[in-house]
Amino acid sequence: MRKNIVAGNWKMNCDLAQTQALITDLKKGLVNDVNCELMIAPSHPFLYNAFNSTCDTVIEVVAQNVCEADSGAYTGEISVPMLQSIGIKTVIIGHSERRDTYGETDQLITAKTKAALDKGLRVIFCCGEHLEDRKAGNHFDTVTKQIELGLFDLTAAQMENVVVAYEPVWAIGTGETASPEQAQEMHAHLRSFIETKFGKETANNTSILYGGSVKPANAAEIFAKPDVDGGLVGGASLDGSSFLDIANAF
Ligand code: PEP
Repeated sequence: MRKNIVAGNWKMNCDLAQTQALITDLKKGLVNDVNCELMIAPSHPFLYNAFNSTCDTVIEVVAQNVCEADSGAYTGEISVPMLQSIGIKTVIIGHSERRDTYGETDQLITAKTKAALDKGLRVIFCCGEHLEDRKAGNHFDTVTKQIELGLFDLTAAQMENVVVAYEPVWAIGTGETASPEQAQEMHAHLRSFIETKFGKETANNTSILYGGSVKPANAAEIFAKPDVDGGLVGGASLDGSSFLDIANAF
């Protein structure tokens, strides 16, 4: 059965001291069990330190991005084997900030996804529409296309290592949240689309996270929807107690 997951995307925030302080806050706050997998994605330079500081906890440290190639002339990039050499098991791919700010195409995102899965990393695959798509009524088509291009060449076995994160771009970092009904409607659509390619079992086993201004005040209502299996959380993950409140919304 699919897992509930709450993942914190710290983006380009927190230096080493702040990374350590936030992890300390999380560890202090983790007095009770949480009913979900808990992940944090600090910046690349601090992954090793974060990994070592959390390996005695339920917190999994994940990466925010990865290169499609294993090694070589790729200045500034970080490879799957590099991440694996420091214990990282999961990577976020296709975040809208990578797509929009850094021009990552569907083709590149597909290559990254394949590279990560081929080597055994788990992938949190992000998709989501812009406001214009939604206003024009194209949101289902846009997101379906991202899923088709990014995931439909995978095997069913590889799909077991994929978590989908639906993040409407208009709700990321804006304070604007999709309503629980809008999230449910898209998640159910994505699950049935995944079923058309990979079958019912795989579709039912795929965790689909919602991302876009999730906070303690709205998490429980969003997570209560049957096809929402957790959240990818940006801003609110930078505060230890808010992040744990979100995780405790399950
Ligand atoms: C994100 O960046 O993935 C995100 C959902 O950010 P926020 O929670 O701040 O909207």
